[in-house]
Amino acid sequence: MPKLNENYLNLKESYLFSEIANRVNKYKKENPDKNVISLGIGDVTLPLGSEVIDALHEGVNDLSKAETFMGYGPEHGYMFLREAIVDYYKRNGVDITAEEVFISDGAKSDTGNITDMFGPGNVILIPDPTYPVYVDSNMMNGREITYMDASEKNDFLAMPDKNVHADIIYICSPNNPTGAVYNHAQLKEWVDYALENDAIILFDSAYEAFISDPDLPRSIFAIEGAKKCAIEFCSLSKTAGFTGARCGYTIVPEDLKFTSSTGKEMSLNAMWNRRQSTKFNGASYIVQKGAAKAFTKEGMAQCQENIAYYKENARLIAECLKEKNIRFYGGINSPYIWFECPNNMESWDFFDYLLNNAQIVGTPGAGFGKNGTHYFRLTSFGNRENTIEAIERLNKLL
Ligand SMILES: *Cc1c(COP(=O)(O)O)cnc(C)c1O
Repeated sequence: MPKLNENYLNLKESYLFSEIANRVNKYKKENPDKNVISLGIGDVTLPLGSEVIDALHEGVNDLSKAETFMGYGPEHGYMFLREAIVDYYKRNGVDITAEEVFISDGAKSDTGNITDMFGPGNVILIPDPTYPVYVDSNMMNGREITYMDASEKNDFLAMPDKNVHADIIYICSPNNPTGAVYNHAQLKEWVDYALENDAIILFDSAYEAFISDPDLPRSIFAIEGAKKCAIEFCSLSKTAGFTGARCGYTIVPEDLKFTSSTGKEMSLNAMWNRRQSTKFNGASYIVQKGAAKAFTKEGMAQCQENIAYYKENARLIAECLKEKNIRFYGGINSPYIWFECPNNMESWDFFDYLLNNAQIVGTPGAGFGKNGTHYFRLTSFGNRENTIEAIERLNKLL
């Protein structure tokens, strides 16, 4: 009999989205005439821009002719895409090299797979509430997790506790689920803490393209010293609408090195290269053709049109909450609005209340951690018409 990875037994039932679906389906069955609006999903809805679509078509055509056919590509991505990303970062004021960019099929894979590079016994800090992938991927490897509280006490931006040592720190900014964004000074504190503790920051910047405030950092590498202590994950999913097309990238600085227990210097860039070359055969050529176009000035301008559409939805929802004096986070440099459930309601109770009385589906904060117990997430990824209708219903109900 195979000895199974029994760490899987310790995973919490991943019941958030299935439980939401169950409750919604039950409601729809019992109320077939009601128009239910979903502002729950973290998935984009607008189609890809024409620049990207044309490049995807070109990629398909390349595969149709012997002269331009492409087989296996480099495991860590085609140079044309890595250079397009380097150029994009440069336009945003951050210098990285193509050797530091690793292309993948998405940030979920990379944030999960990164655990391969770390041994047992690390103190791993993960904020609560959090994107569940960080927790589950560590649990699968039998790792212990130390949670750091993100709550209204720190505006849902956990800060380092100088009296507590950590080895690995997960940060997501702009944050899913809270929409909170760290500023320069706050990220500098994290980088200084990591350098002092010889720790590594795993920085998820999946929503960086939603930042329009020029004073807010869009990359951890905008912070001095970060190249010695951080890895950055990013994705075209929310930036360019690639949730279905699939493409992401991870930046592992060449300066990121630690010493092994036997005194050997280990480069995380070399390790990730080895890891990807061994277990991954590269993202699709066609998708990488399209992705490269998303990072050109014209391509990014089209991405930003879609992002502006979502952000206007977010603004409208935030406006409504403001009028109702409901405490909320996000909604500005983020597609997410995270708000306190009225009347101290618990998030699942508020979920039912909203579904039954306004036919709106959101995401209960409890699904992201205990600090979400009294909070609720709405997303701006719906269409304008539905979003406005939902806001009208909220206005009447709250
Ligand atoms: C959506 C999202 C991602 C992107 O995942 P992909 O696998 O690239 O689609 C990464 N991190 C967070 C926090 C997200 O919400």
